[in-house]
Amino acid sequence: MSTFCMSPFVRMTQWWNGNLNTCTHYGEISGDGTDIEKQVFIPDGKYKTLAEAFEGEEMQDLRQKMIDGEYLDGCRYCYHLESIGLMSLRESINSCHNETHEAKLKEIEIYPSNKCNFRCTICNSSASSMWENEPLQIKDNKPTNTYMLDDLTDLDLMTISGGEPFIMPEYDGDFFKGRSAKMFTMATNNSVFPKSEFFDFIERSEDVLIYLSLDGVGEVGEFCRKGLKMGRFERNMKKWQTWFDQSKFERNGNPNYKLRPPYLTGLRIMFVMQPYNVFNVYDSMKWADEHDIILDLRNCYSPEKLNVAYLPNTIKNDIIQTMPFYNDTHREFVEKIFNSGTYDKNRIEEFIEYTKYLMGLDEIPEESLRIYKQCMDII
Ligand code: SF4
Repeated sequence: MSTFCMSPFVRMTQWWNGNLNTCTHYGEISGDGTDIEKQVFIPDGKYKTLAEAFEGEEMQDLRQKMIDGEYLDGCRYCYHLESIGLMSLRESINSCHNETHEAKLKEIEIYPSNKCNFRCTICNSSASSMWENEPLQIKDNKPTNTYMLDDLTDLDLMTISGGEPFIMPEYDGDFFKGRSAKMFTMATNNSVFPKSEFFDFIERSEDVLIYLSLDGVGEVGEFCRKGLKMGRFERNMKKWQTWFDQSKFERNGNPNYKLRPPYLTGLRIMFVMQPYNVFNVYDSMKWADEHDIILDLRNCYSPEKLNVAYLPNTIKNDIIQTMPFYNDTHREFVEKIFNSGTYDKNRIEEFIEYTKYLMGLDEIPEESLRIYKQCMDII
C-alpha cells in the first residue's frame, strides 16, 4: 500500500493553542482503535511565521519520511478511512497535486483561537471558549503566537475554522480585504450571518465550500450543539442559499471541480454522527431534503469515546435491526462505521462517564440517552 502523502510538501495547519501541524490529522487521532498518545508536532511559538515553520526541521523530517515510503503512526487516521472505503485527507490532497518531492506552501488551515458561542458535545475547551467556562475543564490554553497568514498569497487552498470564525476578532477588520485563494473552505455554526467584506472575499476565490455544522435537528440538535437555535439556523441558512443562488458559485457544488473530489464545493450541512444523535440521522436527512440542502454524513473520531464503532456488538446489531433508515446512503454509512471497529470497553466507559458529566450541565433529550442507557445495562 502506498502511504505517500503530499501534505508535508504543500500544507500547514495552525491550531487554536498555537501548535502547528501539517494537517489536522497527523498524530492527532487513529480511528482504528489503536491508542496513540497525541503528539504536539510543532510547539506553539517555536517559529515566527507559517512559512518559517514549513521550512523547519519537523516538516523536513516528515517530508523525508514520505519520500522514504515509511508507514507513519501519525497518519493512521488516513489509512483507517481508506481501509473502510471512505475518502481520506491524504487521498484528497494527493488528488490535486502532482507527486513531487519539492516543497511549496500552497494550502493553509487556521484555527486562530477557541472563541466560540457554542458548547458542542464533540468539542472541548481547547476549541471552544464556552467549554472553558464549565467545571473540570482546562482553561487558558492560549497561543503565544497567532500566525494567521502573514504575507502568504497565491494559495491554492485556504481554510478557516474556529471556535466560531464569524465572532473572532482575527477575522474582523482587514483580514479578508484584498485577499484571495483559489479554493476557500470553512465550517461555521451558522449562528451569525457574515458581513459584506466576507462575501467580497469569497467572490474573488475561484471556488468555495461552506459547511454549516448541524449534528441533529430539533432538541437533539440543540443538545449536541449547545447554543444552536433551530429557527435562527434555518433563517441564516436561507440567507446563505439566496446568496449562493445570486453568486457565480453552484449552491450544490461545481460538477467540474476536481481539486477536492467528489465535488466538495458549494453549501452543505456537516453532520457528525455520535452516540447522542444516531437515532436523529433519519430526521436530519429528511429535514435536509425538505430544505433543499446537501447533508454530508461524518462519523465522530475525535473524541474517540464518541465513536460509535466502539459500541458493544449487541447494541450495534439492535440499532441495525430496529432503526428505520432514510435511504441506502444512510444504511450503508451506519453499517460501514459499525463494521469499522470492535467493542472497546475503556472508550465506552469514558463515554458513560462523559454522559454523566453532561447530565450535570444540561437536560439531555431521551432520544440522545438511548445508547447510554443500553450501555449501562450491558456494562
Ligand atoms: S497521510 Fe493524512 S495524516 Fe498523514 S500527513 Fe497526509 S493527510 Fe496528514
